[in-house]
Amino acid sequence: MPPDALELLDTLFLVLSFVLGTVVGSFLNVCICRLPKNESVVHPRSRCPKCGSGIAWYDNIPILSWLILGARCRNCREPISWQYPVVEGLTGLLFLGVYWRFGYTLATPIYMLLAAGLVLTTFIDLTDWTIPNEVTYPGIPLGVGLSVVGMFYPASGLLVQDVFHALGGVVLGGGILYLLDKVALVFWKKPGMGFGDVKLLAMLGAFLGVISVPVIIMISSLVGSVVGITMVIMQKRRGVVSEGHYLPFGPYLALAGVIYLFFGQDLIDLYMGLMHIPQSTGVFPVQ
Ligand SMILES: [Zn+2]
Repeated sequence: MPPDALELLDTLFLVLSFVLGTVVGSFLNVCICRLPKNESVVHPRSRCPKCGSGIAWYDNIPILSWLILGARCRNCREPISWQYPVVEGLTGLLFLGVYWRFGYTLATPIYMLLAAGLVLTTFIDLTDWTIPNEVTYPGIPLGVGLSVVGMFYPASGLLVQDVFHALGGVVLGGGILYLLDKVALVFWKKPGMGFGDVKLLAMLGAFLGVISVPVIIMISSLVGSVVGITMVIMQKRRGVVSEGHYLPFGPYLALAGVIYLFFGQDLIDLYMGLMHIPQSTGVFPVQ
């Protein structure tokens, strides 16, 4: 194919990835509402949570319908949460980013699925304060299974191409947070992390490999501390005192997982450069 046609095709796939992401995001919105209540995510059809009227297909177009309707239900005019277009737009951008990073490989649909799972986990943890087992239970064996696929099919573009890196990721990811939880229980008489966070980091370890685990812990604690400290300062200014409030850690783990997915190799190269470790040692075999 001539280079012009290839470029055009690439742009088309980028746009399609974004559109696919918004459609998947629309379905994730349904899951975010219904999974914590143990309701079916396929039945009944989408309806307005305020007045219960069914939502027609033309009012269910990702992002656009929310804008056209002016963020209000067509039937009862009650406001529709900004969470709907945010989840759709975010999933769209992540899908676009995955195609941009992994291109025309098997890794692209796989990491789109992972990104969708992380968006779902983030918003359920923010609204319901739980990490959905519906994501982590199938996610852990799937991540390990894919590393086996990577072993036999190196052109897959998968980040982990060795089953021991995936299994190591599960053990290290799950183990570190599990231990932290037990330590917190002994010293502060309260649980440090939810067990959901343990399973989430184990899943990220399975998909992204054992090397990703310390990187993800560093990024998530850094971002988590900055956000946490900012919130405490803002609350003090407003004179609000909140004690023992549950701070969801899942969103930070998910964010760190996405950062590692896109920039993990660059971060490791940067670190090795700073530490003057020669690249050829193969200590950090990511790809
Ligand atoms: Zn309504």
